[in-house]
Amino acid sequence: MRSPSLHGHGCRTHEERARLDAQEIKTAVARQDAERAAAEPPFVNRRDPALAVGPDGRPAVSRRAPLWADIPDENWNDWRWQLSHRVNDLEEIEQVLNLTDEEREGLSAPDKFRVDITPYFISLIDPDDPNDPIRRQVIPLGREQQAFTAMMEDSLAEDRHSPVPGLVHRYPDRVLMLVTTQCASYCRYCTRSRIVGDPTQNFNRKDHEAQLDYLRRTPQVRDVLISGGDGLTLAPKLFESILRGLREISHIEIIRIGSRVPVFLPQRIDDELCATLEKYHPLWINLHFNHPNEITPEVSRAVDKLTKAGLPVGNQSVLLAGVNDCVHIQRALVHRLVENRIRPYYLYQCDLVEGSGHFRTPVGKGLEIMEGLRGHTSGYAVPTYVIDAPGGGGKIPVMPNYLISYSDHKVVLRNYEGYITTYEEPPTYDRHDEASCRFCQSQRAEPGQSGVLGLLEGERMWIEPKGFSEIHTRGNTEAHRLQDPSKWVPFGVGAIEGQAQAAGQLRVLEGGDPAPPVAPPSAATPPAVAPPSAATPPPKPEYGPGEEPRPRDGEPTGSAHGELL
Ligand code: SF4
Ligand SMILES: [Zn+2]
Repeated sequence: MRSPSLHGHGCRTHEERARLDAQEIKTAVARQDAERAAAEPPFVNRRDPALAVGPDGRPAVSRRAPLWADIPDENWNDWRWQLSHRVNDLEEIEQVLNLTDEEREGLSAPDKFRVDITPYFISLIDPDDPNDPIRRQVIPLGREQQAFTAMMEDSLAEDRHSPVPGLVHRYPDRVLMLVTTQCASYCRYCTRSRIVGDPTQNFNRKDHEAQLDYLRRTPQVRDVLISGGDGLTLAPKLFESILRGLREISHIEIIRIGSRVPVFLPQRIDDELCATLEKYHPLWINLHFNHPNEITPEVSRAVDKLTKAGLPVGNQSVLLAGVNDCVHIQRALVHRLVENRIRPYYLYQCDLVEGSGHFRTPVGKGLEIMEGLRGHTSGYAVPTYVIDAPGGGGKIPVMPNYLISYSDHKVVLRNYEGYITTYEEPPTYDRHDEASCRFCQSQRAEPGQSGVLGLLEGERMWIEPKGFSEIHTRGNTEAHRLQDPSKWVPFGVGAIEGQAQAAGQLRVLEGGDPAPPVAPPSAATPPAVAPPSAATPPPKPEYGPGEEPRPRDGEPTGSAHGELL
C-alpha cells in the first residue's frame, strides 16, 4: 500500500495510480505474448499438398528426365516453353524412355493418332517400366491399330448431334462446346480422336461465333461445357473472348471447363489465368486424372490456385486396362483427389472408339470397382460410374444392386458389408401437390426429351420405338372392325397416345427446337376430366415444335388439352 503522504502532495490520486498500474500490466502481458509468439515456429499445415516441400525446404517438385536436367527452372516452369518443347517422334521419345518393340511399332505407324507429350508429363514416367500407367496413356502401342467389334470413329455420335460444328446439343438444358482440337498432350484412348490433334479440323473464330449464335437462339440451354481438345491450350485472349461471349448470353447460368491441362501442363494454371477465370463466375472445372501418379506437387499447387479463384474442381477418369483397372488403384486415386479438394465426378467405361480396343475392360470390372468404393470410403470420394451410350444416348449410370427386394410396404436393402436390412414404407403418403407448387408450375421445357420421367409424371403411358405401330399393323392399312382407336387411350394419363393411335402413328418429337415460353403459374384452372370419346375432334395443339403436349397448369393429366379422343 502506498504512503498516504503522497496524497497530501497532490501528485497523483490513489485511483490514478491504480489505473496506470493496470495499463502497465496490460502492456507487459501483450509484450510477453508477442515475444512468445515470435519465439514459436509459425504453424505449417503439413497435410495441405499444395504446401509440400522438398528435401531442400523449397516447394516440392516432381522428377525431371535427365534430358532436361540443365533447363533453367524459369523455362521449365513456363507453360509456353513446355508446349513448344513437346516430344512427338520416336527419336525424341527414345532419349527419355527405353522403348519396347511394340512401342516402336506404335510410334512408327503412319496413320496413328497424334503423339505429343509435354516434357513435364513424360518425365513422370519410369523410363524402364513398360507398364508404367502414365506411359500407357500417352505412348502408342502397335495394338492401337487393331480393329475390334463395334468400334466406331465417332462412337458417341457427337458430330451427328451437333446443330453447328463443334456444338453438341444432346441433353435438354446443356451443350458441349468444342472450341479447339488441340490438347497439351494426347491420350491414346481419346473419344474424339476423329478430330482431336488434327489442326485441319480445328475450330476458328467463325465457328465459335456460329456456336455462340446457336446458344443465343436457344434459351433452353442453361449450362455450357467448354471442351475440345482443350480450351486452356488456346491463346489466353481468344479463350477469354469465348468466356465473355458466353457470359453475354443471359440465359446461360453456368459455364464448365473440361480440361486435362492441369494434368499435362500444371504450369499453365498461373495467377493471370486465374484472375481471368474469376471474372466469369459461376464457373466450374472438371479435370481428368486416371492414376494417382499423375497428382504431383505441381498439380496440387495448380489446383490450389483454381480453388482459390473460386472454381469448384471435379475429376473424371476413364477406366483403362493396364492403367487403373484395380479397386486399390482407384481408391488411392480418389483419396489423392479429395486430399487436393478435387471431387471425383465420373468414372467412364472406355468408349468403343478406334484405337482404344486394348484399353477396354468388361463392365463387370467397373462394377467391382464401385463395389470397392461405395461404403469403403467417403461418399465424397465416390464417382458415378457411367457408360456413355454408343450411338449418342448420353451417359448412363451403372452400379451394383443395393435394392434386394420389396413388398407393398417394405423394401429390402443390402449395404457394402452384406448387411441386409428393411425399410418400412409409410402406410400413407400425402402426395406432392403439383398444382400449388410453383416449381412444378414453371418447370423448364424439355422438348421431346422428358423420357422416363415423362412416363412417371403421366405425360404419356408408353414410349414406342420409331415405326412400332406400322410394324404391328402387319401390312393392314385400314382399321378393321375391332380396331377402334379409343380402345387404347389410357384414361387419366398423358395426351399423345390417343391421338397417335387415331392418326395411325406417333408424331416424331425432335429435341433442340426452340423452347416455347413457359406459361405463368396458375393454380386456379378448374380440373376438367374429360372421359375418352372418339366423336370429339382433336383441338389444335397448343404446344410448340418439338414440345410434348402437356396438361395445362393445374389440370389433371386426364383432360390434357382435350386430346384424348
Ligand atoms: S485431353 Fe481429352 S480431348 Fe485431349 S486427347 Fe486426352 S482425352 Fe482427348
Ligand atoms: Zn491392383
